[in-house]
Amino acid sequence: MAERAQKREEISNEEIARILDEIGDMLDIIGESTFRVRAYHKAASSIRGLTKSVLEVYKEGGVKALETIPGVGSHTAQRIEQLITTGRLPYYDELKQKVPAPLTELMNIPGLGPKKAKKIYDALGIMTIEGLTKALEEHQLEKIPGFGHKTEENILRGIRQFQKMHERILLSDAYPVAREIVELLRQQPFVERANTAGSLRRMKETIGDIDLLSSSNEPSRVMDFFISIPQVAYVLAKGETKSSIVAKNGLQIDLRVVSPEQYGAALQYFTGSKPHNIHLRDIARKRGLKINEYGVFDVATDKRLVGRTEEEVYGILGMDTPRPAIREDKGEIEAAMERRLPRLIELEDIKGDFHVHTKWSDGINDIEDVVQMAINLGYKFIVISDHAEKLYVAGGLTPEEMEEQLQLIAMLNQKYDGIEILSGMETNIDNEGNVDFGPEVLGKLDVVLASIHGGFRQSKDQLTRRMIKAIENPYINIIGHPTGRILGQRPPYEIDLRAVFKAAAGTGTFLELNAYPNRLDLKDDHLREAKEEYGCKFAIDTDAHVVGHMVYMEYGVATAQRGWLTTEDVLNTYEVLEIKKMLRQKR
Ligand SMILES: [Zn+2]
Ligand SMILES: [Zn+2]
Repeated sequence: MAERAQKREEISNEEIARILDEIGDMLDIIGESTFRVRAYHKAASSIRGLTKSVLEVYKEGGVKALETIPGVGSHTAQRIEQLITTGRLPYYDELKQKVPAPLTELMNIPGLGPKKAKKIYDALGIMTIEGLTKALEEHQLEKIPGFGHKTEENILRGIRQFQKMHERILLSDAYPVAREIVELLRQQPFVERANTAGSLRRMKETIGDIDLLSSSNEPSRVMDFFISIPQVAYVLAKGETKSSIVAKNGLQIDLRVVSPEQYGAALQYFTGSKPHNIHLRDIARKRGLKINEYGVFDVATDKRLVGRTEEEVYGILGMDTPRPAIREDKGEIEAAMERRLPRLIELEDIKGDFHVHTKWSDGINDIEDVVQMAINLGYKFIVISDHAEKLYVAGGLTPEEMEEQLQLIAMLNQKYDGIEILSGMETNIDNEGNVDFGPEVLGKLDVVLASIHGGFRQSKDQLTRRMIKAIENPYINIIGHPTGRILGQRPPYEIDLRAVFKAAAGTGTFLELNAYPNRLDLKDDHLREAKEEYGCKFAIDTDAHVVGHMVYMEYGVATAQRGWLTTEDVLNTYEVLEIKKMLRQKR
């Protein structure tokens, strides 16, 4: 449901085009007429070339307006309407039932396509990438008419490209299972210490591998235990000090076990990043020391000096221990040596959330459910910020509905002690930079967000001017998901971020760090630049569409740490009274 709510808010031309293309491909595979196959591809490519968002076309003129898009007939228009209004397309789902799922994956490999994928499937029964790779190694494909040595080479290159594109995992897909396993390990009497390592410990937005590390004097017991935990789908490899499993969620997880004397050095080493470690090695060398995963050694005597804890490792190099989130060799080593590492923001510093949707627009829960969840999270305030009417595909609020909502919020504020429910709204920045309502409506709200939800294909200039106009609006407090990117789906839109940062800082407008795991927008480097170069301030928001999303605050805080943010930079860490004062200052 949550997925769906998100889709309804945001469905982009690219997403619609991708689905239409896929329908065309599937029709091709099941042997439909070329006419129908081509119709879908034509519609898709026409939509990709549009300068206006399909969503807006639909909003302005309904299904009839969709038919005016070149290449979109009445059938396709209806399918698009269904997709926009419900977030789903049963026809597409039915087709997926008919075509083996891996085969649709196969046909997405660059250089392969539906025709060749189908031929390979028909001739050799292959429908997975693994099967195809094996067949290529055995030169089986050459037996298929029309497949030569050159085709094989092209397909192999395509597979490599495809795998590169798909190898990174969202932090939120990896982190919960990794944490579960670490907790489980820590409970075992034969495990001394355990932790995540690698990019996962550094809380990067997407990660490569899931690496875990533990210390024990009984490594074989640790290995036996690891391969038998309930999270295991199957075991890839079991060794004396390292094993790999595939977890039930399909992700590979590696666990290493080292001796307690070595644990700190190993944790430091396997946490990385590589540039950070290279820099450390340099510093060690200048001090006559050698640093590796086993410890820090005196080069002259080859004697291990330290290795049990990370603090010892950094300490002997003459520095404080930087938080894993900032170990990217972007100044943290210098800061650690000069003992001026910032005290980064922590999850515990967060007193509330500014961006949550409810049933009143495209969210799933009642306002009261949201309030209960906020109380569970220990918050002091919560902002209800549903969409406004212009985004009517997301069920945005009219001024009348807003009045009703304000009354309900006032009533709930009476009912609940210890938490303040603030009234808010996520307005939509239209193509000209205007938002849904004027001062007479917005003035009644505690917090107003404004975000771009369409018209991504405007020129950089137009997009920038549009956003700056919203920033200069005295009633807009927070700019939502400022770059619009969706990890793995949609690149950020073209916008002059520096101009945006400058305008935001100059007007007292907060920039959102959207904590939703496939957004994390602004991202780490942008946060740091906005803070250090422009003095911007930020709001960390989950953009939850179900209360379950509200826990994603953790990923937002991790990203804030990666951007070197402290409590001072983040609106969520202030007392409610101060927040209200800061928000009112702009008006
Ligand atoms: Zn939004
Ligand atoms: Zn939202």
